[in-house]
Amino acid sequence: MTKKLYIETVGCQMNVLDSELVVASLRKNGYELTDNTRDADTILFNTCSVRQHAEDKIYSALGRLKNAKREAPHKIIGVLGCMAQKDQRLIFERAPYVDLIVGPGQLHQVPQLIAGIAAGGGPRMEVSLGRTEGARAEIERSHESFDPLRDPEMRPTPHQAYVRIMIGCDKFCTYCIVPSVRGPEQSRPPSQIVAEARQLAGEGCKEIVLLGQTVNSYRYQESDRRWRLSDLIYALDAIDGLERIKFVTNYPKDMTDDLLDAVGELPKCAKYLHVPAQSGSNRVLQRMKRGYTIEEYREMMDRIRARLPDAAVASDFIVGFCGETEDDFQLTCELVREQRFKNSFIFKYSERPGTRGADLYADDVPEEVKKRRNNELLAIQNEISEADNQPFLGRQVEVLVEGLSKAAEKHDDPAAQQVQLTGRTRCDRIVVFDGNRRQIGQVLPIAIVDANAHTLFGTVVTQHVGPELFTLKA
Ligand code: SAM
Ligand code: SF4
Repeated sequence: MTKKLYIETVGCQMNVLDSELVVASLRKNGYELTDNTRDADTILFNTCSVRQHAEDKIYSALGRLKNAKREAPHKIIGVLGCMAQKDQRLIFERAPYVDLIVGPGQLHQVPQLIAGIAAGGGPRMEVSLGRTEGARAEIERSHESFDPLRDPEMRPTPHQAYVRIMIGCDKFCTYCIVPSVRGPEQSRPPSQIVAEARQLAGEGCKEIVLLGQTVNSYRYQESDRRWRLSDLIYALDAIDGLERIKFVTNYPKDMTDDLLDAVGELPKCAKYLHVPAQSGSNRVLQRMKRGYTIEEYREMMDRIRARLPDAAVASDFIVGFCGETEDDFQLTCELVREQRFKNSFIFKYSERPGTRGADLYADDVPEEVKKRRNNELLAIQNEISEADNQPFLGRQVEVLVEGLSKAAEKHDDPAAQQVQLTGRTRCDRIVVFDGNRRQIGQVLPIAIVDANAHTLFGTVVTQHVGPELFTLKA
């Protein structure tokens, strides 16, 4: 008999991929998805710990399930991912009706753990070793990369897929919880990555997005060959059927020339780089232990602009980090104005217990100052994004069609032929246009007619096909 699974995912692309793989493995064990917790036999939350807000959301969602569990005690409630690894038994204490806690390095065990609980085995917790709980090799082994065979049905679109090339992180930026919850940095063997990409291309996947916390730090020694990210994307570019390759997120210090040259040379490689700066002030960067100065970041941007003049660059910023003064913040604004990023993800600093930042520094920037700096920086970025989108008016761009636009998804009428579609250009700009469902997954020429800070609007360029002439032969 089929059982019903409800799964909610918060956080980054890694979590989206993890959920896809967990769902695929549970499907093989007789589960099908439901979009409401009422019908579900199993309810899973795949969680994030990067900011407090993401954790609060999950604890409130768990709180709302208290009565549901009392009324239907057979329902299995599980917490997966980074918050499971970080909080561990605390989750059982705060929500005693939770049955399952599984860290990101143990997700391969989920089907078997759920089966054990369903059989009456009681609550289970499986987490990996902490960063100081053993020798490095032992800790590495306890964080298993969860990359089973893919199930194409489980992807949000069959034409795009995330491919993990690394797990973990060794950078230990002082604000960040990722190295503790995702474990040591480990690169996957290139042969495995290439085989997975070939399989995806064979299933009709047009775009792959390579994932790693610091994706450009990828290194792998395979027999006598040392692989870098540039070597890997050369190998992936040669796969028939694939049309686009992207990789996120980059670490500024590892943005080497061989990688920039590969991005420039390889036709399938998106001309888009996400390289978070985090702050424009050396004083803050040093406290964050980012490992570079703002002069070094600028030098890296100069190399990107020189080698890839048409590439779009995106960044992340944290505002209100411990001790950030108004002068520090103004240096960040200056950097954004000067570098004209395509877009920036801006976050208010959220203190994470267990990080060096929480131990060393006081979270001393008041919430309303963080909020104001966030809005100010966002306004600067939006003005730049809007201005830099204007030159696209009247131009033709090549768009990989991803699916229905957000607006169309809300009021989708499956019988309608014409729908509003969305896709992205080679440099990751979002384009919205009217088209036909059949065009999802195709690469189309789109003429841009309008633009705001976040979106280009266009129409499909149709090539004129003249009337065909048939000669009737006697
Ligand atoms: N590995 C990627 C990197 O190094 O850029 C991304 C890691 S993190 C999941 C994504 C972003 O969240 C970071 O770039 C940073 O801007 C932000 N972030 C991380 N820790 C944070 C914290 N404690 N408070 C606020 N933002 C944070
Ligand atoms: Fe966190 Fe820094 Fe690692 Fe990115 S590089 S995951 S911000 S520790």
